[in-house]
Order: sequence, then structure tokens, then C-alpha cells
Amino acid sequence: MNHANGHEDYGSGMTPEEFRKAGHAIVDWVADYRARMGGLPVMARTAPGEIKGLLPAEPPVAGEPFEVILRDLDKIILPGLSHWQHPQFFGYFPANSLLSSVLGDYVSTGLGVLGLSWQSSPALTELEEVMTDWMRQMLGLSANWSGVIQDTASTSSLVALLCAREKTTDYGLNRGGLQAEKQPLVVYASAHSHSSVEKAALLAGFGRENVHVAPHDEKYAMRPEGLEALIEHDVAVGLRPCAIVATTGTTTSTALDPVEAIARIAKRHGLWLHVDAAMAGSAMILPECRWMWHGVESADSLVLNPHKWLGAAFDCSLFYVREPEHLVRVMSTNPSYLQTGADGRVKNLRDWGLPLGRRFRALKLWFLIREQGVEALQERLRRDLANAQWLAGEVRATPHWRVVAPVPLQTVCIRHEPPGMVIGDHADGQAHDARAINAQALDRHTLGWVERVNKSGAAYLTPAILDGRWMVRVSIGAAGTEREHVANLWTLVREAAERV
Ligand code: PLP
Repeated sequence: MNHANGHEDYGSGMTPEEFRKAGHAIVDWVADYRARMGGLPVMARTAPGEIKGLLPAEPPVAGEPFEVILRDLDKIILPGLSHWQHPQFFGYFPANSLLSSVLGDYVSTGLGVLGLSWQSSPALTELEEVMTDWMRQMLGLSANWSGVIQDTASTSSLVALLCAREKTTDYGLNRGGLQAEKQPLVVYASAHSHSSVEKAALLAGFGRENVHVAPHDEKYAMRPEGLEALIEHDVAVGLRPCAIVATTGTTTSTALDPVEAIARIAKRHGLWLHVDAAMAGSAMILPECRWMWHGVESADSLVLNPHKWLGAAFDCSLFYVREPEHLVRVMSTNPSYLQTGADGRVKNLRDWGLPLGRRFRALKLWFLIREQGVEALQERLRRDLANAQWLAGEVRATPHWRVVAPVPLQTVCIRHEPPGMVIGDHADGQAHDARAINAQALDRHTLGWVERVNKSGAAYLTPAILDGRWMVRVSIGAAGTEREHVANLWTLVREAAERV
């Protein structure tokens, strides 16, 4: 039978020769996309449902020629994208996907191998071991840490809290689990920890009532004394403190929880300490940034996402533990069909996380680190840190503009407070009602100007609430973002806000 896609046979898919042709076309397509992306509107201008409306509701019965599929990539998919690799992308946190790492991802998928056990693809496991160790060295961590690649920080933090739970209950999973515990177990984090921390605690069975929010200071960092008071109170009322999650580089404002002081408290009370450095962890390849997580060597687990700032194509989250034997004891399953003669001498990474099947993610790091070299990675991050300081300086020096949080990293939190809408310290003497009206007007103003910037297509920013008020995060660090792009953004932002 002759198919539209030209195959004579059923089921076997493209031949390697057909793949070569289509694959070259795809590489060209991605290269062209990266080259012309700077001219595209950064934020998608798509209406909800618009893309679905362009797609057939039912799957094709007969195969289609690859050129037709490729054409639809341009016609249907591309207009429905926000462009994360765009040099004017300042939203969320960067998710840099450097092209060498993209090629590692292609190879991983092209090989189509799975790491169910060491034996199922020895190179997959061993390259992952070496890459997590290269990264450990790049981050300035001691040899006491052992790492594994997970998909996301959300998964890494879930695994961390499962480890914490089992440490506190002395492997209660082998008995009645959390349900058999006499005292509820408690997890501590600050209100500025990422939502994935609470989600992990809920999924690990702690229950929302047992996720306790430690107070923070004016820099949005956890207050160790407040944390300890909370722990002591919980012990006094019969609860069982279990784990603390400290964040190095919070999502809203890149605040830095004081890891060393928190680690001392964790030690004093016998708690697990997990450090979430999902974004900021990449900065630790710079020795001058390592003060930000000083004390990390006393933590039990930590996560950082090279798929954010460093440049590894999503997904690539590094999870490190100090006691891999404990992690493996919590995570391991050993059905007969997965046992091999090599098991005593090798790592089976299925026992280091949730999924059995493991992608060859280490290739993304291998290609990235070798093609860039540590120095180029460091230089790019230093460029971004300097750009953030430059922007913060410009904002501070401009009337009616404020930098509303410290800027230790690459994110600058800003607000335009025009006359008549000033609140807080600047509004002394205002009546309470007048202040509330001002605050609402200011929020509307902030959300209004950021929307104007985003809708213009010239840049992409994400606002967030800090101290109950909207502000705008300028998250610098897309790989292509140079000083000129940041300067351009600053002009755009002023035009959008001061136009009113
Ligand atoms: N932790 C922090 C501090 C983050 O900023 C983020 C995402 O931005 C996460 C965790 C979640 O990361 P992931 O998408 O890898 O689960």
C-alpha cells in the first residue's frame, strides 16, 4: 500500500535515510528560529483556544509527508509561543537552552535508550555519575555530596521530603507509614519558599496543617530565631519537627535564607535540612557568589536546576544528598526482572528518585560543559549579575522609581510610584482610607504598565506580589541578553509607566 508519507511498509516509521533528510531540515528549522527569534514578539499574542482551533480534532488516518508537518510548525505552533530564548525575555527565571545542550537532547532522544538499571545502558548511568560530580566541583561543593539528575526541582524537593520523613520515622514506610505515627510530623519553610515545597510536603503526606511558615525579615530571608521559636513551640505542643527547607534565591525576589544559622538549628533539633537553590544554584559556579549559601555543607540535600540559568536544555535538575545509602533505602525497589549480576558493583539510578525509566539527560550537561568550558559559563553569569546591578542603579537614580528588594543575583524587583500613589514609608500622615485607595490605584498602575510592555511584544516581564503589593520582576539572564537589551527594556518600561 502506498501511504501519503511515501512508506511502503507499516509500522517501522521513517527509514534512517528519510530521517537524515527530515532531521537536517529540523536542525535548519531550529537554527533559523534561533537566528530570527529576536524579531518575534516575545510574549505570545494568542487567544485562549486559538491554537486548538487550528488543529484537526481527530488524528490523521493516513500518514502525512514530513514537509507538511514542518509547514504546520511554522503556521500553527510558532505563533502560539512565548519565546524564552529571546534576548528581551525577562519573565519568570531564565530557562536557557544553549544550542550545544539542545544537541545533547537530540542525541539522547535519537539513541532512545533507557536507564532502568546500570546494565540497561551503562554509559547513561556512568556519564550521569561523572556529570553530577563535574557539577559538584564547579559549584565548590565537597566530595561528601553525591548527585543524580531529576526532571525538576519539584521532584527533587519531593524526594528530599520523603527522605526526611523516613529519617524521622526510622523507615516508617516499612511499617504503617505516616498513618501509624503517634505525633504529626512538621515541615518548616518561609512564606517565600517556592510553591513546589508546599506541594512536596502535601504529596509526601505531611498535610497542610503541618507545613509551618517560619517568619522572614525585611530582606525576605527566613529569620532563624523565629524558626527556632516555632520548632520549640511545636515540640511543646506534642508535634514532631521533621524537616526545614531553606531557599537560596527565592522565586519572587531572590532572597537568601541564612543557611548556616538554619543548619545549626536543624542539627540542634535533629531535623533534615533541604536547600532549594533551583535558580541561584547556577551562580555557585562563581566563587564570589558562594557566600549566598554559606553553610550548605551542613545540609542533608540540595537541589539546583542547570535548566534555569546555566544553559542546560530543560529538563535537568540536580539533586545532591550527603547520605546516598539513606536515599537508596527510601527509594529502592528490586523486582526480579530488574536484577542483574552487576548490581553489587554499580549504581542503579532508579533507586535515586521516583521514576524507573531514566532519560539520558547527562548528555545535555556533557555537551554544554565541554562546548562552553567552565570559564565561558562563568563569564555569562557575571555579565548578567553586572547587568542587574546596572539596572538597579538606573532605577534607584530615577525619580518615582523604586527597587523594592535587595538584588544579590540577576533579578531586579521594581515599582513605579508616581506622585499621588505613593504608599508606605513615603505616605506618612495619610489617612488610612486614602492609603488603601492609593494602594489599589498603585496596583492597577503596576499591572497596567507591565501589560502594556508585554502586549507590545518588545519584552516579557512577570509581575509578582511582595509585601501585599504588586511589583515587577525584571529577571535578567536569557543567554542572548546583553547590556543593550537591558537598556532597551528600561526605556520601554519607563515609556509604558510614565505615559499615563
Ligand atoms: N524552587 C525555586 C526557588 C524556583 O524558583 C522554582 C521555579 O522557578 C522551583 C523551585 C520549581 O522548579 P521546577 O520547575 O524545576 O520544579
